[in-house]
Amino acid sequence: MNDKELESFKILLNSQLKELQERIGYADIRKMNEADEFQDLLDVASADTDKNMLLRIRERESRLISKIKKALQRISDGTYGICEKCGEDIPVKRLKARPVTSQCIDCKMKEEAFERVSGE
Ligand SMILES: [Zn+2]
Repeated sequence: MNDKELESFKILLNSQLKELQERIGYADIRKMNEADEFQDLLDVASADTDKNMLLRIRERESRLISKIKKALQRISDGTYGICEKCGEDIPVKRLKARPVTSQCIDCKMKEEAFERVSGE
């Protein structure tokens, strides 16, 4: 990967990070404003479902944020685009599709197969 490509991934990851952090900040403000209304809704069964759904979304977002931060760390370490499992270069095409990835497709598939088997 050349410097120009690396720089464009850095810009892309930084803007994704900013967008996610802004969205989460916004959700927090909304939650505060709606706190009273939310209390009234607590008896209603669907409120729980909404709350759980919101929690799952937030969980996924915070996981993504930490992945983006790790990817940015790898860019400054000079290890970005190198598979953390086998040390091979990850194809730029794959990185473009999934900039936070830290593994080549072979290792990722092996890991996912393992996760399915172990049930994690
Ligand atoms: Zn690999």
